[in-house]
Amino acid sequence: MLRDEGYDLITASDGPEALVKAAELTPDLILLDVMMPDMDGFEVCRRLRNDPFLAEVPIIIVTALDDSAAYLRGLELGADDFVTKPFNRVELQARVRTITRLNRYRRLLSERAQRQQAEESERLKDRLISNISHELRTPLSVIALLSGNLDTLYDNLSEEKRRQMIRGIRKHAQVLNDLVENVLETARLENRPAAAETDQLNLVEIVKKEVDEQLPLAQQNGQRLSLAGVDCLKVWGNAHQLQQIIRNLLNNAIKYTPAQGQITCECAPLSPIPNGDGPPDLWPGQPTLPTDRAWAAVRVTDTGIGIDPTELPHLFKRFYRVKSQGNVPGTGLGLSIAQELVDLHHGRLAVASTPGQGSTFAVYLPLCQTKGEAKT
Ligand code: ADP
Repeated sequence: MLRDEGYDLITASDGPEALVKAAELTPDLILLDVMMPDMDGFEVCRRLRNDPFLAEVPIIIVTALDDSAAYLRGLELGADDFVTKPFNRVELQARVRTITRLNRYRRLLSERAQRQQAEESERLKDRLISNISHELRTPLSVIALLSGNLDTLYDNLSEEKRRQMIRGIRKHAQVLNDLVENVLETARLENRPAAAETDQLNLVEIVKKEVDEQLPLAQQNGQRLSLAGVDCLKVWGNAHQLQQIIRNLLNNAIKYTPAQGQITCECAPLSPIPNGDGPPDLWPGQPTLPTDRAWAAVRVTDTGIGIDPTELPHLFKRFYRVKSQGNVPGTGLGLSIAQELVDLHHGRLAVASTPGQGSTFAVYLPLCQTKGEAKT
């Protein structure tokens, strides 16, 4: 019957033979009898579904009329459809046609998706390389220029001028250093299988550690940096990565805030029910958090230069920098790294900002419901 329709048919007289032939041919469809000697159709179906290369092959179970138990069992084991014996010619043809068509379509779609993914990652890589070489060139040429001039003109330069040039070299060396670190981190994230080792951690301790590390820099800039809120928020995560998230946010707050500015890090548990205290933009993104769980929240607020609303949607893209802030050294990678690390932790990252007044970046991570939690 099916040959008449133009299908190629391969038959097997028992289960083991069917499995061998299926593995050799990867058919478009398997019509599977239930009652077979030694290995019944259910067992064949189960084995097919457990074989990664055959798991997607459609299976139609062939059963005796009214055998609804067999039908249900077949569906449970992953069969796609069933036909009853004796066959109704038209029905069998229709089912086979529908299923093989659907399967072809599914294959085409998945092949196309794979192709698109490969092209997209190729494009990203190209862009990354061209961006990196561009970003490396600027600080390198400044360092080369300043050190060259210092060398050749040394005796003719005032003490003040020399100092200024040395500071320029140091500043751009720092930019290079940040760039290399950020690029390495981005590459590590790209090779993601490095499924970060996770532990149950107190997020506040990590935040505190990072605040302590950045305090000297803030003080050197004449800024105040403080930590507020609860002292324990249990989360699952990778300590190194979580600290990197906070580091990037704090680092930005320090970079984009003038002297005398105030930078505050605040830690709080957010209950799953929107509690409505205070305007939502104090905890940016809070209204859009899934409400099926509690969140460990950290926000970094600064009284800095702020960000224009039109820039906000782009901030978390790799290499994106706000043009008007080009005089502040940076790579445009910090926030994209933070975003990717937050994603790895199934969290959220959000921002609210007013130009001229300051910005708030908030990180939300799923809160572990343990005894150490929530001391509001
Ligand atoms: P960069 O290395 O440029 O700081 P980021 O990815 O960390 O890269 O940040 C992207 C852009 O977002 C920055 O260029 C800056 O314009 C803006 N930005 C980030 N944080 C702040 C902040 N706290 N205040 C003002 N602007 C910020």
